[in-house]
Amino acid sequence: MWKNLSEINTIPIIIIIECSQCGGLLLAIEKQKTKSCTYCGARIKIHKAIRIASAGNSYEASKKLKNYKEKKGFNKK
Ligand SMILES: [Zn+2]
Repeated sequence: MWKNLSEINTIPIIIIIECSQCGGLLLAIEKQKTKSCTYCGARIKIHKAIRIASAGNSYEASKKLKNYKEKKGFNKK
């Protein structure tokens, strides 16, 4: 059988997720199953997590994350 080339060269999609425990924003790789929250230590199931945004590379992702963090800070209630 022929291998699908696009499958081999898949670039991991980086997503920004929100921790369901503390609401902290985290970066995760979409293919990962779980991720520990850096703020409260909760184990987050990535497929169940609230997705804020996604990015094609880590630079873009961290830029977006910074943006969302700033926005969140402004809207504090
Ligand atoms: Zn958390």
